[in-house]
Amino acid sequence: MANPAPKSALPDLTKSEAALHPQAYPAGEGHKPGEAAHFLQRIKLFSALGSDDCQHVVKRMRRRDFPPATVIVREGAAGSSMFFITAGQVEVRRKDPNTNIDFLLTEMGPGQNFGEMSLLTGKPRSATVTTIQPTTCAVLEQKDFQELLMQYPRIGLALTTILAERVETASQQVGIEFITLSKMNFDPRVLSLVPQSMMVQHKMIPVAFANNRLTLAMVNPNNILALDDVRRIIKGVMIEPVVTTEEDFRKFMSTTYNELMNKNEPSGPSDAQQIASVSRQPENAIDLLQSEIIRDLQMTEDSSGITESKQEISAASEDAPIIRLGNSILGLAIKKGASDIHIEPMEKEVTVRFRIDGVLQVVQNLPKKVQLGLISRLKILSKLDISEKRLPQDGRISISMEGKPIDFRVSSIPAKWGEKICMRILDKSNTTLGLDKVVTHQPTLELIRELINQPYGIMYVTGPTGSGKTTTLYSALAEINDPGVNISTAEDPIEYDLAGVNQIQTNKDIGLDFARVLRSFLRQDPDVILVGETRDKETAHIAVEAALTGHLVFTTLHTNSAAGAFTRLGEMGIEPFLVSSSTIGVMAQRLARRLCKNCKEPMQAEDQVCEYMGLPPKSTVFKGRGCGECNGKGVKGRIGIYEVMKMNAELRQMVAKSALTEDIHKRALELGMLDLKKYAALLLLNGDTSIEEVLQVVSVQE
Ligand SMILES: [Zn+2]
Repeated sequence: MANPAPKSALPDLTKSEAALHPQAYPAGEGHKPGEAAHFLQRIKLFSALGSDDCQHVVKRMRRRDFPPATVIVREGAAGSSMFFITAGQVEVRRKDPNTNIDFLLTEMGPGQNFGEMSLLTGKPRSATVTTIQPTTCAVLEQKDFQELLMQYPRIGLALTTILAERVETASQQVGIEFITLSKMNFDPRVLSLVPQSMMVQHKMIPVAFANNRLTLAMVNPNNILALDDVRRIIKGVMIEPVVTTEEDFRKFMSTTYNELMNKNEPSGPSDAQQIASVSRQPENAIDLLQSEIIRDLQMTEDSSGITESKQEISAASEDAPIIRLGNSILGLAIKKGASDIHIEPMEKEVTVRFRIDGVLQVVQNLPKKVQLGLISRLKILSKLDISEKRLPQDGRISISMEGKPIDFRVSSIPAKWGEKICMRILDKSNTTLGLDKVVTHQPTLELIRELINQPYGIMYVTGPTGSGKTTTLYSALAEINDPGVNISTAEDPIEYDLAGVNQIQTNKDIGLDFARVLRSFLRQDPDVILVGETRDKETAHIAVEAALTGHLVFTTLHTNSAAGAFTRLGEMGIEPFLVSSSTIGVMAQRLARRLCKNCKEPMQAEDQVCEYMGLPPKSTVFKGRGCGECNGKGVKGRIGIYEVMKMNAELRQMVAKSALTEDIHKRALELGMLDLKKYAALLLLNGDTSIEEVLQVVSVQE
């Protein structure tokens, strides 16, 4: 067998099991019948041995030490030894044959063992066991064990009692693992996934839940009715049946179960309440979360798309585990509040990354084998052509989650190791939040409202990619959206659906660019126009003309500060006097991570920081300590930082005369404008965000 772990240089075990790890076995050497059971007796295989015989077995065991991240046994490799953990911790994983993903079955620690059946059968290992911490095991090898049986035939005889019970069950259950309930650690939340009545009815116990895979201990794993019942209450779950004895089951239900569940739910709630309580658990158990997600996530493919894509579905993508994998990625991203999902084929694996609060983080590395199926599945959902793999494509997925419509804007591009998929999550319900939820500073909010209620002119929103410009503009549009107002938007891409608004997707490939859409808008009697982005002279020019001919125009520009917009427009070749007369206001904005409300705590700002930020010396600011609510990060969600420059006669004159950006900025400050830094200082004092966040955001000003 491929066992990479080297033999320890430590001496073999001899006299007593206490030498293995004294603390692990309180019933050490010299115990008498009636005293606490010998540790070996807790292993099913040896449970019928007397204490003296246990000593004989222990003498044959050898101590082995494994550093962290060592594979002790590998799934599929030949087995020949039993391992009894005396210190440390290991994880047990098994490959799902459909997706080839390693699913975590359980973790084991001191007092637990694995591979006992290998002593007798030498069959391939059914799981991979890897150390998490430095781990010490007492190892019993097959050849030593066989010698022992020769020497003490009565040990072999005792073992047959145990084996007979197993053989009876195992003869029908080829390939199904046997577990001993008394040795397992149970999570009450996992237990509550299946109602007690159902557990009793079908003689089954949910023992572990990970990666949408439920390990179900069953007296009769062939009970299809039971499997169906579980699948009915946990939709989309993959069930891994393991066998347990009827006696074990009864013992468990009458003792351990009641203890655990009473501690957990003193009032004895209904099944539905139990399941609901599971789904309310904090995020520390992502796996449990997934079961909730799978319940919530209902794909709302529209019917026209289904018939079309059905014909195209490749065999790989309609595989149930692939569908669930796709669903759980989408669902998890929403639950975690991600803004983007990246599915990136690498040379040897497929990396899934989420952008959360502006930061990309790896969520999972999937085996290369799922790549084709997963990418095809996502492309089908997005109504993309799955046979086209050489050209970039754009699509969209619409789902509803907990009754809320959520769209994913999907883009696929051919990359070196296969098609890369990027999905932007567009939570359409966000737009109903309105400006007042986006802008927390009241005077700034009022200033923006004043600007967007002007009859005509252009308002520019500036900021780097991902600074929330679009969200601000949509919130603004939503606020002035009214049946009596004709609003048209030219977007690339359309990020939100706004009822009553004419939204046009630009398409460069067919020559439908911003400028062309904008020109056609002007023939459609619009009142308000939103241009996704002004990035060329032609678009800028038409937008200015539209503003000057009585339309209200919103658009975004790629500059750092509000005052920088004028320079940028000048560089695009727009005459300063046109800019000056058409602009009603310019906003710059950034997003900073918001401090976790649950764990933020006050601290005194350093003198340098106070000076830089224009705060009084020794100002009290806040920092996040990190808690369960924020996954220990101290930050949760994001908050906008705004700089709103409302034009007036004096500023217009400066713009018309092509004044320097710095001078315009300076004058606006004198006239009372809050710039990004000043706005950020307010957020600091208010405990909305931290110094680190603010410094990152405001230090990149022009
Ligand atoms: Zn927190």
